[in-house]
Amino acid sequence: MVNSNYEYSQTLLGTTVSLTIHEANEAVAQAVFTTIKILEDKLTVNRPMSEVMSINSAAGKHPVVVSWPVFNLIKQALQISLQPNSYFNCAIGPLVKLWKIGFKGQQVPTDEQIKQHLLLTNPRDIELNRKNHSIFLKRKGMEIDLGAIAKGYIADVIKLVLLKHNIHQAIINLGGNVLTIGDSPLSDDKCWHIGLQKPFSKNQELIGIIKINNSSVVTSGIYERFFYQKNHLYHHILNPQTGYPLDNELDSVTIISKSSLEGDIYSTILYGLGVSKACEYLQNHKSLAAIFLLKNKTIVLANTDNFCFQLLDKQYQIKL
Ligand code: FAD
Ligand code: MG
Repeated sequence: MVNSNYEYSQTLLGTTVSLTIHEANEAVAQAVFTTIKILEDKLTVNRPMSEVMSINSAAGKHPVVVSWPVFNLIKQALQISLQPNSYFNCAIGPLVKLWKIGFKGQQVPTDEQIKQHLLLTNPRDIELNRKNHSIFLKRKGMEIDLGAIAKGYIADVIKLVLLKHNIHQAIINLGGNVLTIGDSPLSDDKCWHIGLQKPFSKNQELIGIIKINNSSVVTSGIYERFFYQKNHLYHHILNPQTGYPLDNELDSVTIISKSSLEGDIYSTILYGLGVSKACEYLQNHKSLAAIFLLKNKTIVLANTDNFCFQLLDKQYQIKL
């Protein structure tokens, strides 16, 4: 939650995107939203045409040459997807399109459909050609989906755009991805105060306030895109091994990091690991901090040197 005089917002990336800056500056706001639109046009899989969709449409047929940013992002996404037992898989597209969670036609597929679609999600079937920046999906029906990381990548690019325009204090919010630049001019502690949303709250209630500067805050949770069928909740973070939504003790994972791309990658991966393995991981990765919201209303904080957290909702209990 930010109190500043100049907030610009637009509906992009399927969400409300907002930019908060210290002084009114239409030109900067235009530059930011134009950049987001250009990147959305390249990366979206929610329209028939984009660079990523051109790779997907040519699956099983031929490689497709793409622009440097698209190639570079897919290269990074593939590296993470190929890590042993990774919960992140950029080839998850066929399953995302099958479930359609958060979109018209969302449904629980049959076990057989899931089994068939899982066969089309092997990241080893993605071939990159570094010489001509082409990408080839070896099997017909394969689809790259960058929904878990594209907002993070875009937020980092926007930071560069703002710095180029000499804006050194700002917040960009891409719906779940908040990136702060510099110190906050609004509070005595010079920290930006970011609200941590209460899962499934109808009135945008907050559990607490995260205080940071010059960092990214990214949340992956099960309460933004979900539906119920027969009293069972189905959400949009899928287990790449089973093809079903991940099922564990967590409502959400928030990552505080320097780059938003890193936050986006690890919010998905650590959600998949579950709180205890995720905390083990974080012991050896001190540049990442995390807030885990458990379904039993416990909050687990990890690597708290990088941020402050103020609890507002007394139904929750903090465990360090
Ligand atoms: P995260 O937790 O970061 O990611 C979840 C998303 O990642 C899922 O929605 C799925 O796409 C994918 N995913 C699921 N499981 C895995 C896995 N195991 N490994 C890797 N990826 C996984 N929404 C609309 O409603 N309409 C739009 O037109 C629209 N256009 C978009 C265009 C772009 C370029 C982007 C980046 C997003 C767009 N969205 C749109 C939102 C998009 O569909 C996702 O809901 C959103 O990106 C999820 O981000 P998150 O931070 O909420 O979730
Ligand atoms: Mg993510």
